[in-house]
Amino acid sequence: MSLNLGVLSIQGDVNENILSIKAAIDALDIDGTVTSVRTPDEISKVDGLVIPGGESTTIGQLSLFNGALKILKEKIEQGMPVLGICAGMILLSKTVKDKVVGKIDQPLLNILDIKLERNSFGRQRESFESDISLNSIGIPTFNGVFIRAPSISDVGSDVEILSKFNGKIIAVKKNNVIGVAFHPELTSDISLHKYFVNLTNTLKN
Ligand code: GLN
Repeated sequence: MSLNLGVLSIQGDVNENILSIKAAIDALDIDGTVTSVRTPDEISKVDGLVIPGGESTTIGQLSLFNGALKILKEKIEQGMPVLGICAGMILLSKTVKDKVVGKIDQPLLNILDIKLERNSFGRQRESFESDISLNSIGIPTFNGVFIRAPSISDVGSDVEILSKFNGKIIAVKKNNVIGVAFHPELTSDISLHKYFVNLTNTLKN
């Protein structure tokens, strides 16, 4: 059966992720499609989902409001693969504080057992790019694009650390859940999207 991938389209860089997932499906020569999904009904039909970067408070509030948050949590807990990018990773996490304003109350999925710091590398003007590596998933070098990026200060015992930058954890994985602090969809390198499509394909079969 054809693989049905989705990109959560509440707010953030949805189109860039659709293009990257499309390119990954083509490169892997997998029978699959990618669509933008927003409603609980649309979300219920996907085999794997990207939650894009953007503004986590907005994505969280609007998903709570339209019922997406509830079905997302159910599906991810039942094993649906998810790639949370930047704000998407924030949404997946259990504990969030902001580097400047400290503890904040925002809707979260409460799935990834990580302690997360929002805006950990500074604000918009401190955005930067740097080479990083994700060796344990077969991606030795990758151009990390960090935009108001979070970092992770601590992980639960069963969360795998995939990458660190300047001593800060910037990518994690727990079974079907991947979170990254940088923006793979803003580079032409589709390795991480390929890894995710492959993971979804493997977990589905
Ligand atoms: N700092 C943003 C937030 O907290 C995330 C930034 C991003 O997704 N590029 O939601």
